[in-house]
Amino acid sequence: MPEKFDVIVVGAGPAGISAAITTARAKLNTIVIERGGIPGEKNMFGGVIWKNAFERLIPDFVKIAPLERKVVEYQYWILTDTGHIKIVYRDERLSKSPSGYTALRAKFDPWYAKKAEEAGAIVVTRTQALKPIVQEDKVIGVETDRGEVYGNVVIAADGANSLLAKQIGLHEEWKPHEMVLGVKEVVEVGRVKIEDTFKLGQDEGIAVTIVGGPVKGMTGGGFLYTNKETLSIGVGALLSDITANRKRPNELLEEFKRHPSISPYIKEGTLREYSAHLIPEGGYYSIPKLYTNGFMVVGDAAMLVNVVGWEGTNFAVESGIHAGETAIEAHKLGDFSMKTLRNYEEKLKNCFVLRDLRKFRNVPPLMRNNKALLTEYPEILNDLLYIWHTVDGKPKELKMKEMRKAILSRRNVAQLIRDSLAVARALFL
Ligand SMILES: Cc1cc2nc3c(=O)[nH]c(=O)nc-3n(C[C@H](O)[C@H](O)[C@H](O)COP(=O)(O)OP(=O)(O)OC[C@H]3O[C@@H](n4cnc5c(N)ncnc54)[C@H](O)[C@@H]3O)c2cc1C
Repeated sequence: MPEKFDVIVVGAGPAGISAAITTARAKLNTIVIERGGIPGEKNMFGGVIWKNAFERLIPDFVKIAPLERKVVEYQYWILTDTGHIKIVYRDERLSKSPSGYTALRAKFDPWYAKKAEEAGAIVVTRTQALKPIVQEDKVIGVETDRGEVYGNVVIAADGANSLLAKQIGLHEEWKPHEMVLGVKEVVEVGRVKIEDTFKLGQDEGIAVTIVGGPVKGMTGGGFLYTNKETLSIGVGALLSDITANRKRPNELLEEFKRHPSISPYIKEGTLREYSAHLIPEGGYYSIPKLYTNGFMVVGDAAMLVNVVGWEGTNFAVESGIHAGETAIEAHKLGDFSMKTLRNYEEKLKNCFVLRDLRKFRNVPPLMRNNKALLTEYPEILNDLLYIWHTVDGKPKELKMKEMRKAILSRRNVAQLIRDSLAVARALFL
């Protein structure tokens, strides 16, 4: 491999590959360093890929990408100890013009990495970046387990466990309350069962966001996504909560799968894949400094994940593109110092990446600090529905009293007001 590059990208996930496609298309000599044997080998997500950011680089993305199903229905399930409450949202417009597609990273990531190679980047696998090489306060390359690589600018796209940004002091060790540990299984149940069960056409799919159940009392949730032949099913919670509750991640998943509202979907299915991965969910207040001399940090490595909507891939792609564009500008100016690279942050401030994270900046602290939202309220709602739907000859006036008692036995009036204000403040201020 040549020794000096215009751009070194560490990590071949969506963030790194998007940066590499951007710089390689501008004829910058670009190398991507990936520790996995093939891109995607060590990656996992839920998951729904949001097409908008990808289409900026690949206009016919939906036609040519290895996607599983277009999401035509979103469901929100609240699991209680004894049952569930489901909200189902389907609209013909989603089918005509979907924005989310289910995907499997093992298929998607190698395909996307090929796009960087087609653009002219070199993608080197089985190579682990060990630390940045710094000279006179400027990052000038990366030390890997296969030798040193030099470049004008390094883009750290090394994911949730990012080493590089921490090593040069952009942030400290992530805290357990900033990281969600997700555990997932891909279970083969067959195309016919998926389409019959969820009333789906051939290429249609659903995305289910789940709260409560085994993650009750913890900040976290679960998911179920339909792929062509398989279901992706998983659960995750803050590392701090998993530790405090003395849970093992695999136990959490097993409990989740045993829940009466989940188990029927995977009964008789065949396990195809099991994986666990961190999601950086600290939110806006946890975002590190995003650049320094000769260095930018993108995607999960920069904590750019929106917990509201479970969006990560589009934040990764968008930040990768902006870092790539900033590298191109720096190349033209011949200046890779902070003075030029600060444009990267400006670009993120002007698009959905930092605007959304800033808008919902109070959501992660709210979810961390007010466990009642994911514990008491699902149970209250369940109790109310149970009382209402038990037709037992009692006059409705008495039922209403019972319902009021059911609410106040879990949250008093002051708490109800405080919780409502806190939610309104986190979402709307
Ligand atoms: C359980 C779970 C569910 C999720 N669901 C969704 C979803 O439904 N929709 C959504 O949009 N997002 C979802 N996400 C988030 C999404 O997966 C991430 O935000 C996105 O993958 C971030 O992309 P990235 O390129 O920054 O990091 P990654 O995809 O993690 O890629 C980082 C790459 O860097 C490589 N690497 C790491 N360290 C080194 C090193 N030292 N040297 C060389 N290479 C290295 C890794 O092998 C990897 O290939 C989910 C995540 C999880 C864990």
